[in-house]
Parts: sequence; C-alpha cells; structure tokens
Amino acid sequence: MALIPFDDRDGLIWWDGEMVPWRDAKLHVLSHGLHYASGVFEGERAYAGNIFMLRQHSERLIQSGRILGFEIPWTAEEIDAACQQVIAANGLVDAYIRPIAWRGSEQLSVSAQQTKVHLAIACWAWPNLFGNDRMKGVRLGIAEWKRPSPETAPTASKAAGLYMIGTLAKHRAEAEGWDDALMYDWRGQVAEGTGANICFVFDGEVHTPTPEGFLDSITRRAVTALAHKHQIKVVERAILPDELARATEAFLVGTAAEVTPVRQIGPNHYTPGQITNTLLTEYDRLVRMSPAEVAKIAA
Ligand code: PMP
Repeated sequence: MALIPFDDRDGLIWWDGEMVPWRDAKLHVLSHGLHYASGVFEGERAYAGNIFMLRQHSERLIQSGRILGFEIPWTAEEIDAACQQVIAANGLVDAYIRPIAWRGSEQLSVSAQQTKVHLAIACWAWPNLFGNDRMKGVRLGIAEWKRPSPETAPTASKAAGLYMIGTLAKHRAEAEGWDDALMYDWRGQVAEGTGANICFVFDGEVHTPTPEGFLDSITRRAVTALAHKHQIKVVERAILPDELARATEAFLVGTAAEVTPVRQIGPNHYTPGQITNTLLTEYDRLVRMSPAEVAKIAA
C-alpha cells in the first residue's frame, strides 16, 4: 500500500489557536522540540463524534508538560474545545486526534527557559493500530530494550523522547516477523507494549503490571472499570517473565490499540477467551456511548 505522507494531506490543523491548512503547518528546523525532544503529546479517538475520555487526555497532556518543566499556555477546557473544533473542521466523526506541545526556537541549547511553548492538534482517520490483524490476535516478540526507571527518565510523561525506545524495539520486532514487542522494565519485570499497556488472564482474573516506568493507560483504567462491572477481578502487580507461560489469555489496551487480543508472546501461545472477548466487546460499546454515560461507568 502506498504511504500518504503526513505532510501532504488535505485538511486543517489547529495550531496555537488558529486553523492552519494542513500543508502549511510547518515548523522551523531549529526548534527546541526537535533537537532536544522537549515535546509531549496525546493520542485520542473520537467515535461517532465524541472524543473518548477527552478531559483525561487533555489533563494528562498538561501534566506531561509539567513533568518536563513547562506549562502549556492553554487550559484543559480550551484544549478539549480545540480537539472538538479540529475534528469538526475536518468533517470527521470517527478519528484519531493528536495534540502535541513543544518548546519553540527562542533558544537552542540544553537550557530552554526562554522558549515559548506551542500546541498543535491534528486529526485523521485511523481504524486500528493493528488493522485487520486485531481480531485474530497479535504476536509479540520480547524486546531487548527496557523501560527505564522513573529515576532515569520522566516515565510518567507522554514525552516524545521516550518513544525512541519504543521505535527501536518495534523495528527490531518487525524485522523478526512479530507484530509488536513486549517490553520489560529496568528491573526485568513485564512492562508493556511499545504503544499500549498489557493485561493477562490468570485463573479467571485480569492481572496487569503496575505502571512504574511506563505510561498509565487511560484505556486500561476504562477496561478495569468494565471488568469490575462484569465481576471480573483486576489485580495490578509486578509480573515476572517466567509467569507468561502460565497466563491463559493476554491483550493489549491503549487508545490506538483499543482492546487487542494477543495470541503469542515469544514461545507462549494464548487463545483469546471469554474475558478478552467480553472486555473487547464492552470497550467497543463504551467508546460509542455519550460522554455522560462514559463518565458514569469509567470515570
Ligand atoms: N503506553 C504507551 C507507550 C503508549 O504510547 C500508549 C498510547 N498512548 C499507551 C501505553 C496507552 O495509553 P492510553 O490508553 O492512555 O492511550
């Protein structure tokens, strides 16, 4: 399939309060965000015109910036409104939304105290991270790269710089024929995928690694609420690699991945069963509810 480059598409991008024609949304090459990865972003999805868990994403974006030492000059309410404006301006109701904030060009050195902070929001149609493979389940290779300790990197932030580890791990996995990589953390505990958290089923319960050293997924929290609604116990705990063989089901959770069954991790095979199927179906239903209904179930 021919790739349509992201800088050569029709549409509008919200940029510092203005709607800019897609192809004109260009950044100077001497931007601090590019050289020093002083950028934070979000990935959101709109279903039938409603952006799922919008406020949680806008608040996490602001918090991600604060963790990197900068303040995004827009409130969560303003960011929510801008996200809604941009999908409407592009005539989309089912969309992936990508807000990104970064330090500008006023200074180009490690110290960047005088830089202005910018915010842009783009959106496009993006069915699922794994496309048609999602329902049959994905295969994960085990990455050599590790999620870093929170003392080594600002791991609670959805910081652009942290994604270099994910890209390296994913490229290696793809080169070896896997769909994605499962990453361990600096202690050797199971962490997450390269762009999604992971859950396992042990003895009829959902077990998921405690988010230390990786992003605390908004989707995972929503799926946890759905599990509780269905009397499925969810346990957040340290999961060790030698436990992977004992799990009976596994699935990825994330905005882009939604609930994606996993059918293999390294030598371990899984068959999506009742728990994966229930949570996948319930999640697909939840995201299409009104924000008020979502708030009742998952907030
Ligand atoms: N981990 C990583 C590394 C991610 O990029 C994402 C996607 N934002 C997630 C987890 C899932 O987070 P969320 O459910 O909040 O989208």
